[in-house]
Amino acid sequence: MTDARVNLLGLTRPELEAWCIERGGKAFRARQLFQWIYKRAETDFGAMTDLAKDFRAQLAQEAEIRLPEIITRQDAADGTVKWMLKAGTGDGASQGIEMVYIPDAGRATLCISSQVGCAMDCSFCSTAQQGFNSNLSTAEIVGQVLLAQKELGFQAGDDRIISNVVLMGMGEPLANFRNVVPAMRILLDDLGLDFSRRRLTLSTSGLVPQIYKLAEESNVALAVSLHAPDDELRNELVPINRRHNIAELLEACWHYIDEQNGRSITFEYVMLDGVNDSPAQARALARLLKGKPAKVNLIPFNPFPGTKYRRSKPEVIKAFLDQVLKGGVMATVRRTRGDDIDAACGQLVGKVIDRTTVRMGAKRIATPVVSEPAVRAGLTS
Ligand code: SAH
Repeated sequence: MTDARVNLLGLTRPELEAWCIERGGKAFRARQLFQWIYKRAETDFGAMTDLAKDFRAQLAQEAEIRLPEIITRQDAADGTVKWMLKAGTGDGASQGIEMVYIPDAGRATLCISSQVGCAMDCSFCSTAQQGFNSNLSTAEIVGQVLLAQKELGFQAGDDRIISNVVLMGMGEPLANFRNVVPAMRILLDDLGLDFSRRRLTLSTSGLVPQIYKLAEESNVALAVSLHAPDDELRNELVPINRRHNIAELLEACWHYIDEQNGRSITFEYVMLDGVNDSPAQARALARLLKGKPAKVNLIPFNPFPGTKYRRSKPEVIKAFLDQVLKGGVMATVRRTRGDDIDAACGQLVGKVIDRTTVRMGAKRIATPVVSEPAVRAGLTS
């Protein structure tokens, strides 16, 4: 089923140049090819008319430009669109990931996934309930953006439709550093989709060593899932906190801003009724962030079947917001979008064959215990 052709969506421009040079081509041919793929969204080598015929034939034999396959598409009343896509190749199982398009006044955001499932085990997130299966490849991450553009009607010659990309779908992007960072490089490339660094946002639950590493290798905007103003509560909500506490996490954040000359970090804070939404907690949150390059984004909790949490009441969210602002920290409330199709934050699930038995919450280590052959043979569910 799988052939040996390389999916060029997984290659950064320098990698594509090296790949072409290895095959006797010239670097500028690779640049032309890169522009065909990203600027013109061409997936058929035969149509790339300014490339030599022989080179096109060689490309067709050895390479492909393969977008993820769509399993389902749902359109919400507010214009939000959610797609479930087939992910992971080779194990024969039908694995699903989700991506969401969120149009708004003046911007068009695409929320993409970085992993099939997630091992972080945050107690209020429905993706966590699925467990972790695998990392997405660079091609699968970049492919989501190209596929969304195509689905939204992009034609060669058009301006890019998606204005912002957020890595806030399924998965912990920094746990898939190896594939996520090159994917960001491809999206930033000015001969390609040419996103500005401020319009690409990576959201993390707080993998501290990887934040330091990211500061060396990338400069995209960073969002951090804080969700609690103290370690005791954050240990419960975001179990990675048991390994890297709030003080360590914030230090890594300020380092990132210094290194990258960034503007600020967005701290995401899910509003859970009676759990983290008191005025005292708002004041504590403001004390943590006051005077720092930080803004807070309050996310009304989005419920899912089986959850023990409830969304904070609107007036409580408003009061929390006011307290944070009064404490000297910029804050906003995230508008819930696409909730009629379960496309809101924390509702993305896909179909994940869980390979994790020990997740963060239980033992703080993610270990795939089900062997890949067992998964392949359909022995697990
Ligand atoms: N793993 C990354 C990105 C994924 S989620 C991270 O943790 O940042 C994007 C945001 O949605 C995160 O802030 C996450 O904590 C939040 N979220 C998860 N479940 C949610 C839910 N049920 N309701 C509202 N927000 C949720």
